[in-house]
Amino acid sequence: MLDNRGRNISYLRLSVTDRCNCRCVYCMPKDGVPMLSHDDILSFEEMRDIVAASATLGVRKVRITGGEPLVRRGIVELVRMVAEVPGISEVDMTTNATLLAPIAADLRAAGLCRLNVSLDTLDAARYRKITRTGTLDDAIAGLRAARDAGFVGTKINCALVGGLNDDQLRPIAELARDHAVTVRFIELMRMGECAHWPRERFVSADEVLVQVPELERVGVDGVSELYQAPGWQGGVGLIRPMTHRFCSSCDRIRVTADGRLKPCLHSSAEVNLRGLSGEALVDAIRSGIASKPEGHRMDATHASDTPRAMNEIGG
Ligand code: SAM
Ligand code: SF4
Repeated sequence: MLDNRGRNISYLRLSVTDRCNCRCVYCMPKDGVPMLSHDDILSFEEMRDIVAASATLGVRKVRITGGEPLVRRGIVELVRMVAEVPGISEVDMTTNATLLAPIAADLRAAGLCRLNVSLDTLDAARYRKITRTGTLDDAIAGLRAARDAGFVGTKINCALVGGLNDDQLRPIAELARDHAVTVRFIELMRMGECAHWPRERFVSADEVLVQVPELERVGVDGVSELYQAPGWQGGVGLIRPMTHRFCSSCDRIRVTADGRLKPCLHSSAEVNLRGLSGEALVDAIRSGIASKPEGHRMDATHASDTPRAMNEIGG
């Protein structure tokens, strides 16, 4: 379905939980946040119905996210249910991968197409510092299990965090030298936990090009500028929500774990989908798409307008 600015909305990001086994410094407070209760969270059937209603309006791709989607009990079954919805041609997942190893093969068999794995550093001590509770070896084990399970086209997402990983971008980029993966560096967005962080925490993606000067720009893939280096097996992507605006080509909507449709990540506008079914559900999603804002207003000093933290939305 086209929104009121002619953008074709074909991509739904579905947050299946606000919980997480990590506490990344830019995403969640150290002691966690009050979590949604079991009753507040959409059931698998409600999620399937939302995906099905979205598919009738032209959504073709679904990304399962969180919180950490792998902490949601029964996640393999949910993937299967979403993958079976008529009209949905691709089901992907964004995960920190620390719980992935034991179930990678099951997720693949259930119909999961591709994985985006969040990995901000290859230094074990820094990894612990950034995630507070995560262990680098678990994430690496998850990546290996994904490869062994037959996942291809895996993307590594690395958030740029001044003072925490911006002096060590080359080792992460070089994952794309040694493996057929795309490493995407993402500018930290001024929202949630880091809404009021000092400027020096927000690093431009240009820093990647300084540290890896052999990268050459080869094109664009959605929100990501693509780079390659001679002889590398994979590629590097730069995603610059802070310094470059890509809202005019945004093709996505989001649904939170408590059943609110967010037409824009950075807007406070939400449409309740909870308790709706049939035509009423389709109409609510249609009105959300129709009201999608032109773009965000976030910049170096102005924080996102969404009152929600990233773990509630899923990125
Ligand atoms: N737990 C999963 C994970 O970490 O991949 C999925 C949810 S997490 C909220 C999705 C992505 O959002 C992660 O790659 C994380 O780095 C990113 N993220 C969280 N807060 C962010 C912020 N303020 N700016 C940019 N990216 C952020
Ligand atoms: Fe958890 Fe992902 Fe947020 Fe880190 S970025 S705290 S892994 S939801």
